[in-house]
Amino acid sequence: MSDCIFCKIVVRQAPGSIVYEDDTTLAIMDIHQPTTHKVLIIPRTHAVMIYDLSDDQAAAIMQLAVKIARVQREVTQCEGLSIFQSNGSVAGQDVFHYHLHLLPRFAKNDHHQDKREAFPPRETLDRMAADLRTRLEFTASE
Ligand SMILES: [Zn+2]
Repeated sequence: MSDCIFCKIVVRQAPGSIVYEDDTTLAIMDIHQPTTHKVLIIPRTHAVMIYDLSDDQAAAIMQLAVKIARVQREVTQCEGLSIFQSNGSVAGQDVFHYHLHLLPRFAKNDHHQDKREAFPPRETLDRMAADLRTRLEFTASE
């Protein structure tokens, strides 16, 4: 799977704004829609669909999703948060590495709406990811 962009991010052969990582799991800011504050959670090893995950991977991903959702709410003051997967060729994806999307949702007329389509530079994305990472570490140490 040397052509898999997410596998390349895992081994740092491709850029990724890392929110969190441990032995099984990685979380990154979405490179296509960064100002939505979307975060992707991916297993370190290549799996395509949810039923391809090991029990340990599945548990780690779901537990991490809850932790990241809490810091996303803290940062964005969002009204709610969508968690979804959209994987494999049936979803029209061009990345076939399992990933979970965590997407904050805002009320109409919220100021975040105005910036949805912007594409900030990598350094902005890295800063946003670092902010989430710091808050995750702080939460974990409590
Ligand atoms: Zn992969």
